[in-house]
Amino acid sequence: MGELFAPVLQSPLFKLVSQLCILFGIVFWFALTFWTVRDANRRGAMGWFWGLANLVFPVAGWVIYLVVRPPEFMDDARERELEIRAKEVALTRDFESCPACYKPVEKDFLICPYCMKKLRKGCIECGRALKLQWAVCPYCKTRQE
Ligand SMILES: [Zn+2]
Ligand SMILES: [Zn+2]
Repeated sequence: MGELFAPVLQSPLFKLVSQLCILFGIVFWFALTFWTVRDANRRGAMGWFWGLANLVFPVAGWVIYLVVRPPEFMDDARERELEIRAKEVALTRDFESCPACYKPVEKDFLICPYCMKKLRKGCIECGRALKLQWAVCPYCKTRQE
């Protein structure tokens, strides 16, 4: 078998191809290191540490990083947290529950659409939703009879 492949192994084309393979491997190695550092920094892990690990142990360092890296990007985590907080604020601002049936009602509902309980009264002047106990409309200053 060795005799059969000897001419192939010694041909200039084979040498060129194997050198290209090595070159490609090195480029890939550095690209992987660069990617690892950037990815680790975005996730709040130690980028320099993982970059070094991948340089010392090519590919193996990267595989270990993939296993132990934080599951999400810092930006994503922050964004999701803000989203949840915004939803909570929206919930407390725009919705309250009906005092009779506890179903969610919006703040400017005049009656509960579920149990028909009177929740608010419309201002006699501007028609905006006012609390039942308010004596004056805070929007147009009209006294409520
Ligand atoms: Zn109700
Ligand atoms: Zn009014």
